[in-house]
Amino acid sequence: VEVVNAEFVKSSVKTEDCPSDGAPEFALVGRSNVGKSSLLNSLVRRKKLALTSKKPGKTQCINHFRINESWYLVDLPGYGYAAAPHEVRTDWAKFTKDYFINRPTLVSVFLLIDASIPAKKIDLEYASWLGQNQIPMTLVFTKCDKRKKKKNGGKRPEENVQDFQELIRDFFETAPPWIMTSSVTNQGRDEILLHMSQLRNY
Ligand code: GDP
Repeated sequence: VEVVNAEFVKSSVKTEDCPSDGAPEFALVGRSNVGKSSLLNSLVRRKKLALTSKKPGKTQCINHFRINESWYLVDLPGYGYAAAPHEVRTDWAKFTKDYFINRPTLVSVFLLIDASIPAKKIDLEYASWLGQNQIPMTLVFTKCDKRKKKKNGGKRPEENVQDFQELIRDFFETAPPWIMTSSVTNQGRDEILLHMSQLRNY
């Protein structure tokens, strides 16, 4: 399940513009600053594969990366960027939701959640939307290496992970698979790649 080859293929502004070769794909999505670029780079063991603009909310693109010449990792723009104008946020929601619903080759959405902080409303809304629309989802908890307790009642990553799953339970018939990760220690990296390979072979 190692990544031997990773190449940027294209940025699409609409679902219809995405690659049409029928190869299976996994989308990475999450709040701005959740650690999505770091995780993507850690998955492919490269410093700068994630070409997505670092101006969150500015790039409204679906970015396809071909892995091992047989499947795709898809980088979606981060949501919840406070400084983004309202219409940008609305567009973002429309365009990603269209992609989730109308992309048959999408095997699973990997929803990134920051495990170093308590659950955020926008993440819960996002997860529940995916659940209610029965979009296959895998929860990827990021920054699990951040173990220092914050003074203001901060919890350990394990506790935040538990809390988050508890809060979204009602929106899913069966609890979504979940993986704890860190791009600093590479925790969870092999688990994600293994999980993706298992999902492709169903
Ligand atoms: P993105 O906006 O979701 O693409 O997030 P980035 O990958 O750019 O990361 C946002 C910030 O979180 C950066 O300062 C990273 O160094 C930091 N970060 C990302 N992943 C981790 C992680 O696993 N552990 C820790 N401690 N920090 C991380």
